[in-house]
Amino acid sequence: MVKQTIQIFARVKPPVRKHQQGIYSIDEDEKLIPSLEIILPRDLADGFVNNKRESYKFKFQRIFDQDANQETIFENIAKPVAGSVLEGYNGTIFAYGQTGSGKTFTITGGAERYSDRGIIPRTLSYIFEQLQKDSSKMYTTHISYLEIYNECGYDLLDPRHEASSLEDLPKVTILEDPDQNIHLKNLTLHQATTEEEALNLLFLGDTNRMIAETPMNQASTRSHCIFTIHLSSKEPGSATVRHAKLHLVDLAGSERVAKTGVGGHLLTEAKYINLSLHYLEQVIIALSEKHRSHIPYRNSMMTSVLRDSLGGNCMTTMIATLSLEKRNLDESISTCRFAQRVALIKNEAVLNEEIDPRLMIKRLQKEIQELKDELAMVTGEQRTEALTEAELLQLEKLITSFLEDQDPESRLEVGADMRKVHHCFHHLKKLLNDKKIFGNNTVSNTVSSESKDQDCQEPLKEEEYRKLRDTLKQRDNEINILVNMLKKEKKKAQEALHLAGMDRREFRHSQSPPFPLGNPEEGQRMRLSSAPSQAQDFSTLGNRSSLLHKKTGMREEMSLGRQEAFEIFKRDHADSVTIDDNKQILKQRFSEAKALGESINEARSKIGHLKEEITQRHIQQVALGISENMAVPLMPDQQEEKLRSQLEEEKRRYKTMFTRLKALKVEIEHLQLLMDKAKVKLQKEFEVWWAEEATNLQVNSPAVNSLNHTKPFLQTSDSQHQQSQLFSNKSSGGWEVQGQGTGRFDVCDVNARKILPSPCPSPHSQKQSNTSTPLEDSIPKRPMSSIPLTGDSQTDSDILAFIKARQSILQKQCKFTSLGGSSRATGHQHLWGAHSEVGGE
Ligand code: ADP
Ligand code: MG
Repeated sequence: MVKQTIQIFARVKPPVRKHQQGIYSIDEDEKLIPSLEIILPRDLADGFVNNKRESYKFKFQRIFDQDANQETIFENIAKPVAGSVLEGYNGTIFAYGQTGSGKTFTITGGAERYSDRGIIPRTLSYIFEQLQKDSSKMYTTHISYLEIYNECGYDLLDPRHEASSLEDLPKVTILEDPDQNIHLKNLTLHQATTEEEALNLLFLGDTNRMIAETPMNQASTRSHCIFTIHLSSKEPGSATVRHAKLHLVDLAGSERVAKTGVGGHLLTEAKYINLSLHYLEQVIIALSEKHRSHIPYRNSMMTSVLRDSLGGNCMTTMIATLSLEKRNLDESISTCRFAQRVALIKNEAVLNEEIDPRLMIKRLQKEIQELKDELAMVTGEQRTEALTEAELLQLEKLITSFLEDQDPESRLEVGADMRKVHHCFHHLKKLLNDKKIFGNNTVSNTVSSESKDQDCQEPLKEEEYRKLRDTLKQRDNEINILVNMLKKEKKKAQEALHLAGMDRREFRHSQSPPFPLGNPEEGQRMRLSSAPSQAQDFSTLGNRSSLLHKKTGMREEMSLGRQEAFEIFKRDHADSVTIDDNKQILKQRFSEAKALGESINEARSKIGHLKEEITQRHIQQVALGISENMAVPLMPDQQEEKLRSQLEEEKRRYKTMFTRLKALKVEIEHLQLLMDKAKVKLQKEFEVWWAEEATNLQVNSPAVNSLNHTKPFLQTSDSQHQQSQLFSNKSSGGWEVQGQGTGRFDVCDVNARKILPSPCPSPHSQKQSNTSTPLEDSIPKRPMSSIPLTGDSQTDSDILAFIKARQSILQKQCKFTSLGGSSRATGHQHLWGAHSEVGGE
């Protein structure tokens, strides 16, 4: 059992804009526990009542400042936890902090660079690497991905996610067994045998989460995500199985309400937006207080699921993510306070060992049989019934393997059954007789060589005997060499077959591009696998692309107008830059991998040649030995030694390149997943934008006010919801990022803005102004009654025309503004509005 308190770490996010100095300091004296001091700036502290503190100090296991990279975080925080999970202990890592402080960045990773991958992908990589190294145990890995939103659990890996909206999916519910163990109904466990498979599941879950997100359901800020790696291990022959779970938790934003900011109420107890977090705090408080017998785990789904992680059988780590900018200081202090409480909680982790009943039964059956045999022997009990066909066959197999076994100590184990003992003797006798009749072809070498002595009528002379033995040894050598050559040929043939199979698959893939957004890299995916041993590895890429493929299928049914609009949207979208950048990187990695693959193939064939040469030399020597009647020299000659050292060198080179190729493959895979995800996001945002443009077209049409029978343009109820939400946002002025975002109520608006690239000037102000510029007159107008319920291609071209016209107006307006001395509107970013985030300026 390992007793330890929950480990707490702090990570400070780099500021969005300029560095704000003097807000915090980190004291990391090696002898002392590191502490983080948050200093209230003078303008915030001023005006406070006299006893208001000006600085707050918090202790952490370690504090990672802005410059700490993802690798450092993994090495220091996650690796030790993953290590104990591999040993069989449960582990949990959870990130806690306000929206925008870097929880998702820390747990899952950034959406742009490979180097930004977070704790989950790195932990998967580490765990699978360790599993591969450890051949002493058999491991199985399963993945589950749970999202808790509004106290309801959703399975992010449920295949029905694609077809249904979040609300229609079966909810994950909690069941408790009599031993008070928690079971989650409707949460699927997916086996992952490789790192790639596990990574695919992570991205699939994230994509599902993104797709389900609407402005009404701000999944990314208001829901909790629990990615769990379930690991079982067993030693061969043992009936004991170890189970360990690793929860990697991205909590909802911890921002609070009922806080008036700086006017004296700062840092008073405020309430969480998120009810689950409130209950989490209740549990933490209860656990950190001594003598509390009741811990209110059952109040919420999240605390029930994480029951073991909090004061139970688990090694738990918390990462407090902090966005230490002036306006976030109160939230940051709350986060640190929460962490201080968490640090008081003691957990007791035990090895989760269990006896596998099936294995136990097998073992007991064997033991019973052995005991029966012994008993029969001791009591002298005789069995008279004849042995069955199956038993006879089994015995003959045993005899054959006994005879073939070169080990002089080997035994023929048939138990204490005299019928079997007799049958063995009979069978051996038969073999010997057969041998006498047919010569030494029918029985194995061992028997023939042993029986040779007995067959000879006259005793052999010592020298003749030795000669014969030498010859025999030579023959054996030759046979071995030939057998090896045969094996090699067979392997080559198999590889060729496999390769041919691969080529066919590759061909199929290049025939049907896996991605509807159609970029040339996709086709290259499979072509990489020129090295035969890589074939298996790369084949998983095909699987993966089909996983996310369906998610982007929407565009296939687009009308031409819509497609053109999509191109416009894509061009101006900030994420396009990321996608393009990643495309470039991917291209580089592909060509690097291709070159490496070629070098590997070269090294492989060189190794083959060298081995061939060595074999040839052996054969020559053996032949020489036979012709000159000499034994094969024991020491290899110089030439052979040279060949061997060359071979070793080549093998080393091969290994280095292979390791690099493997790493490249993981990187390529990750980049592709990032790109796929970005594309799905782009597509989704386009749909929302398109709907909004359709609405704008209606709003701009002269008939708008005269017609009451406004019909929703969008087809799904979900989208209607979104649309009405958009309207309400706009009419309440919610378009603007409010309150310099410490989270709270403006979260929803911020995300709505994020999803909708809004033109400049904002639609809000545009709509309010009644003065229309002459340019606006050029916008095509269409009476609203003529807009049909569903988007037909005519309507689509209208919307497209509308978009284009408005774009050109906006461009002209923006040019006009910039000519007038303002630096605004110099690029597309301004047309669409920069992505904002909570905590951003
Ligand atoms: P949260 O999940 O807490 O709401 P995110 O992880 O989404 O916050 O982070 C918000 C933004 O800040 C993202 O764009 C993310 O890439 C960026 N970010 C967060 N932490 C870091 C960091 N340590 N280094 C660089 N960028 C970061
Ligand atoms: Mg997040």
